[in-house]
Amino acid sequence: MSKHNTQRQILLTPGPLTTLTSVKETMLRDWGSRDSAFIEITSRIRQRLLALANGSSTHSCALVQGSGTFAVEATLTTLLSRPKGHALLLINGAYGRRIQKICEIAGIKHSVLETAEDTPPTANDVQQLLMEDNNISHVVLVHCETTSGILNPLNKIAAVVAKENKKLIIDAMSSFGALPVDLGEISAEAVIASANKCLEGVPGMGFALIENGALANAKGNASTLSLDLHDQTEYMDRTGQWRFTPPTHVVAALDKALDEHEKEGGTSGRGNRYSQNCRELITGLKDIGFDLFLEERLQAPIIVTVRMPSNPKFEFEELYKLMNEQGIVLYPGAVTREKSFRIGCIGQVYSEDIQRTLEAIRQVLSEMGLAKEELAA
Ligand SMILES: *Cc1c(COP(=O)(O)O)cnc(C)c1O
Repeated sequence: MSKHNTQRQILLTPGPLTTLTSVKETMLRDWGSRDSAFIEITSRIRQRLLALANGSSTHSCALVQGSGTFAVEATLTTLLSRPKGHALLLINGAYGRRIQKICEIAGIKHSVLETAEDTPPTANDVQQLLMEDNNISHVVLVHCETTSGILNPLNKIAAVVAKENKKLIIDAMSSFGALPVDLGEISAEAVIASANKCLEGVPGMGFALIENGALANAKGNASTLSLDLHDQTEYMDRTGQWRFTPPTHVVAALDKALDEHEKEGGTSGRGNRYSQNCRELITGLKDIGFDLFLEERLQAPIIVTVRMPSNPKFEFEELYKLMNEQGIVLYPGAVTREKSFRIGCIGQVYSEDIQRTLEAIRQVLSEMGLAKEELAA
C-alpha cells in the first residue's frame, strides 16, 4: 500500500465517514481566520445549520472546535448552571453514559433513567420522574444511540418535557441531517451535532443550536474557557470570527458538504438513501444467517448491530482484516450485554456498496467454512 493511499475507502462506521471528493477538494485552499471569505463561510454555515432544524428565528448556532463530544460537553457546561441546574439523563448506551461522565466531572447535578441497550425510554416513565422531582430543570436525550443504532422516541419525549415545563437537550450527533429534528414542532433548548456524521463533512468541529433566551441567560455559567458557548457565540456574532484558531479546512468542507446535502434533497433525501442502505443491509445480513441485536422497529437507519456468532469458526478479527484489505471498514461492537460488531449505513455509501459489502462477507464466511445455520449468536 502506498504511503498516501487515495483508493476510496468504504467506512461502514459511526464516523468519520466516507466523504465526497468535492468535499475533500475544498480543503486544498488555505484560509486566514480573519479572511473575509472565511468569515462569510462561518456565517453561512451557522445560518444553514439553523435552517436545517427550522430554528432560524428561535435559536442561535454555536460552533465549537473538536469532535462531537467537545460540543456535548460545551453545551452541557454552558447551559446547566451550577448549582441550580439539574439534568435527567436518559441513558441506553455508551453516549448516554458519556454524558453522565461529563456531568460528574463538571459537577452538574443529575439523575439517571437507564434502560437496557435494546430498550428506549418511554415518555410515561420520563413524565413520572419529572412529576416526582421538581428540582429537575433539563432532560438530556440521545436521539439515535449509536452504541446499538437504536432510535429513541424524540417527539414523544419532547412533548412530555414541554408539558412538564422542563427544557430538553438533544444529542442528535448521529441523526442530524438524516432524521428530522424540527424546532418548529418540538421544543428543545439545544440540539447538538457534528460535521462528520450525517452531514458528511470531515471531523474537527461540532455545533449546538441553542434557544436564544437560554444562550443569553448562560453568561458566566461555563466551567471552562474554551468550551464556553455563550462567549464563543457572542464573540462570533460581534466579530464574525472564532475566538480561538478555527479548523478552517473543516469549516470550508462543511460548507461544501451542506451544498451536497441540499442537492441530495436535504434531510429527507439523505434519510431516504440511508434507510435504503439500512434495509438492504438488514435483509442481506439476515439472509446470510446473522442475528441482529435490535428489533427492526427500533432500528434507526444509521448503524446496525450484529450479534457475534458463538461458533468458534467465526473470527471477527479475521473478517475485519479481510474486509479491510478490500477497502471496506467494519466496526467493533459497543453494547455491553453481549459480543457484537457493527456495520454503518451512513456517509457516501450507496446500494452498490452495501451489495459489495454483503458479497465480500459471504465470500469470507465461505472461506471460514461457515454455513448459514452456523451463524446464530
Ligand atoms: C459520534 C457521537 C458522539 C460524539 O463522539 P465523538 O467521538 O466525540 O465525535 C456523541 N453522541 C453520539 C450519539 C454519537 O454518535
